[in-house]
Amino acid sequence: MLKIRDLVVRYGGITALDRVSADVRQGETVILLGANGAGKSSLINSVIGIVPAAAGTIQLDGQTISAVPASGRAAYGIGYSPEGRRVFASMSVRDNVLAGAARLSRAAQRQAYAKLASLFPMLESRANDLAGYLSGGQQQIVAIARAMSASPRLLLLDEPFLGLAPVWIQQISAAIRQFRAEGTTILMTEQMAIPALKVATRGYVMRGGLVIREGSVEDIRESALTEDYL
Ligand code: ATP
Repeated sequence: MLKIRDLVVRYGGITALDRVSADVRQGETVILLGANGAGKSSLINSVIGIVPAAAGTIQLDGQTISAVPASGRAAYGIGYSPEGRRVFASMSVRDNVLAGAARLSRAAQRQAYAKLASLFPMLESRANDLAGYLSGGQQQIVAIARAMSASPRLLLLDEPFLGLAPVWIQQISAAIRQFRAEGTTILMTEQMAIPALKVATRGYVMRGGLVIREGSVEDIRESALTEDYL
């Protein structure tokens, strides 16, 4: 579904990705693991289009999207949750989540919200509260639910577990499994290898802008856990 070939990303003189190739097939949950600065966010951000590719190609279902501006990529059915709990602080929890589903009809939005509230109960109990008053973990749930709200074909999650208590990690993991069961293809990054390896089907371990290991969860487990301690 997603085919990345020889992708290069540079920030000024810094090479963040050095000819990285990766694939995400229909229905997979693929994890990009690696320590801080490995290049995980750069890869996700170039798929969504907010970081330009200096070289290489990104194809979605055989169409090259590297040159399509970020604003046009949602039309391809890509949902994106950025690193670091980005919520609209002065908007309600419900409006934050439904900001990701603006293209849906009112009835479809209600349905989408009910489904997400069954996965994340705080979306029901805090629906009318301002997102700015939520805890960090709750804000992360809101950002992830927003990315899921339009039922994207390809869901990109950048460090969904970062800094979260186990209760939130479990809820997010259950939601990821549910979306995968319904056919959503998922690409996620994570520094925390242990919970990430539990939800992924396949993965890549990155270091210094390169892929150093790839394969099934079993194939990459040891290398991923080593990176975890670096
Ligand atoms: P993190 O978990 O810290 O986000 P990461 O694996 O996602 O790590 P990237 O954020 O992709 O890594 O960063 C890869 C490299 O690019 C790092 O050396 C980082 O310092 C550098 N970098 C990232 N964003 C920028 C930027 N906007 N300007 C300059 N350098 C950047």
